[in-house]
Amino acid sequence: MYSVTKRIDFCYGHRLMDYQGICSHPHGHNAIVEIDIRTDVLDSRNMVIDFGDIKRVVKGWIDRELDHKMILRHDDPLVKAMRELGEPMYLLDSNPTVERIARLIFDVSREQGLPVTRVTVWETPTSWATYTA
Ligand SMILES: [Zn+2]
Repeated sequence: MYSVTKRIDFCYGHRLMDYQGICSHPHGHNAIVEIDIRTDVLDSRNMVIDFGDIKRVVKGWIDRELDHKMILRHDDPLVKAMRELGEPMYLLDSNPTVERIARLIFDVSREQGLPVTRVTVWETPTSWATYTA
């Protein structure tokens, strides 16, 4: 098998609901996303995929939807206040953990036609989550 990995970084804020601990308070992360694509057959250019295509699709979406935004559960009481202040948010149906964000980026990449096989999101240099096909 061949595989390529593209790294993308972005900043986000979040907090966890129904959770006891410091992550229940609003805070932010400088995230690193790793997009993996695997194949056993290279294309006519001898590539798994053009890195530029991954960047265009995934970084484009992340920059528009997640970068420098609060990622919140849809029923978080913060949503109302943020909305009234006109602050940008990305709302999820469930707790915005790094696991959920990895799954989100995986699903969006697939929906946009990118044959991703694994998405890893590093929340800190020592903590990350992975979602695999
Ligand atoms: Zn956090």
